[in-house]
Amino acid sequence: MPEGDSIHRLARRLRPVLVGKRIASLELPRSDPGGRASQTVAGSSVEAVEPRGKNLLIHLSNGWVLHTHLKMLGAWRVGAEGAPVRGSRDAISVILRVEGATLVCYRAPVARLLRAQDLRAVPDLARLGPDLLGDSFDRAEALARLVASARRPLGVALLDQRTMAGIGNVYKSELCFELRLDPFAPVARFGEDELGRLVDRARELLLANVAPRPRDRVYPSPRPRVRVTRSPHAMARGGGPLHVYDRRGLPCFRCATPIEMRWQGELLRSTYYCPTCQPSRR
Ligand SMILES: [Zn+2]
Repeated sequence: MPEGDSIHRLARRLRPVLVGKRIASLELPRSDPGGRASQTVAGSSVEAVEPRGKNLLIHLSNGWVLHTHLKMLGAWRVGAEGAPVRGSRDAISVILRVEGATLVCYRAPVARLLRAQDLRAVPDLARLGPDLLGDSFDRAEALARLVASARRPLGVALLDQRTMAGIGNVYKSELCFELRLDPFAPVARFGEDELGRLVDRARELLLANVAPRPRDRVYPSPRPRVRVTRSPHAMARGGGPLHVYDRRGLPCFRCATPIEMRWQGELLRSTYYCPTCQPSRR
């Protein structure tokens, strides 16, 4: 699942390509096989590219909005104007041609046109909690929503975009480790001060990682006290090593206890933790 910061980075990358550009054609092969989308957007141009939580909203000048949600596998690719579209037709969710570029979105489970005034009626968009990367982030509201998730395990509440928008599976594990919190304990077991620090650190980390170039990003930077082997996966991502994510069985950077992983919640998301640094509060 893309983290909120990756959707913000995507929006930043797409803005110079899209904003102000006239739309030549729009195809939604999976959701609109009849091809009405192109008539709907004919003559319009792109006014704004807005990340909202993990949703990407491309606002058009005629009052329509192209809404995509990438979930786990979706990705946008930008090619030259008139460039051939690669890949199997079944995997293509959007083909958007504008002056100067061809954009293709692959494997997005949500790709559709909505009227701007109907965005509020879309449950996933309307119910989103405060956006951790928003310019006017409402910390009190985010904290209140987290506190209100009293009975839910902390790791589950953090991933729920209705609590606050932006935390994905990697940050969920990393944040709980950094603050030494048990991700499996109900939210009610934590003090409001602890939860407040968690919200602040989440925003800090996500904002730092919106930096456009990977070398400008600030990943959680462990200071190893023990000799460790970096996981090939983390190294391949260019940001590693992370504290706990994807490090099952490897020694904790703080205490050398092997990192553990458990599947959590109805969606069975992987949660990595150090059983010593994050003592059980269940
Ligand atoms: Zn540890």
